[in-house]
Amino acid sequence: MGNRLEGKVAVITGGNSGIGEGTAHLFAKEGAKVVIMARREDQGKAVETAIRAEGGEATFIACDVGNEDMVNAAIAQAAETYGGIDILFNNAGGGAGEHFPNESSSEFTRVINTNLNGTLYVSQAAWPHLVKAGGGAVVNMSSVAAVRGTSPKMHEKFGSTSSSYWAAKAGVDAMTRYMAGIGGSDKIRVNGVRPGQIMTPQATRGTINDADGGHHAFEGMFELMQMLEGPGYPIDVANLVLFLVSDESRFITGQIIHVDGGTPVKI
Ligand code: NAD
Repeated sequence: MGNRLEGKVAVITGGNSGIGEGTAHLFAKEGAKVVIMARREDQGKAVETAIRAEGGEATFIACDVGNEDMVNAAIAQAAETYGGIDILFNNAGGGAGEHFPNESSSEFTRVINTNLNGTLYVSQAAWPHLVKAGGGAVVNMSSVAAVRGTSPKMHEKFGSTSSSYWAAKAGVDAMTRYMAGIGGSDKIRVNGVRPGQIMTPQATRGTINDADGGHHAFEGMFELMQMLEGPGYPIDVANLVLFLVSDESRFITGQIIHVDGGTPVKI
């Protein structure tokens, strides 16, 4: 157990799985009171129980980040539970399904709504609490998808990735810089993280070979283009997020930092 987030209240959206779950455990180990905001109650409660069993403090609140009314209620409940909010990690998101030129407008809207609208709704609801706390830190979840290209071959290797995901994460990056500009005078820092291939349920869904347990999602494009060997894991992203919400990064804002084993922007 450390004390880098001692006394802080941290909200993590999508904190019931993958990168969000790993970050929830790490924040709790560093002394934060963690609010896990996500849709699936069974998963969320399980993470809450696991963190408490480790001696940490966590509360799960059910919430769809794409539903503004639910977000407002969940953030109010979070602030009431622990007496305020100091840290926000907008992590919930994802996107796959049909890819251009066969994307349906309903799927496009769904992906944008979760990744981009969700980031706005949660940030806006949490903002007055960060101001009231005298400052705070927000980290938004982007992806290397925001800045790199794609190709039909990539879709063959990795399955379908939609233009909605690319657009949503690029939008998150723009929102990060915008929010950082607004937050500076209130001592609210806003940064983003751009993971590459991280082994989580979402990234490996349908791509891990059951027979040999191999990380087939990683084989191919990422393996070739990374400077470091092997895929990343949730803890690799969680460590960066911890730095960005701790006082150690007090002079850093408006930045979007890659955690991707060193991949070039253009492939
Ligand atoms: P994951 O599926 O394990 O976790 C995603 C979480 O978001 C889940 O808890 C899910 O319930 C939650 N979520 C999704 N839609 C939601 C909604 N509308 N409301 C509330 N919660 C919702 O996947 P992950 O890989 O840990 O993904 C976390 C974030 O990291 C996502 O934003 C994803 O786009 C991003 N990302 C992942 C990778 C990767 O390789 N794994 C790479 C770049 C970016």
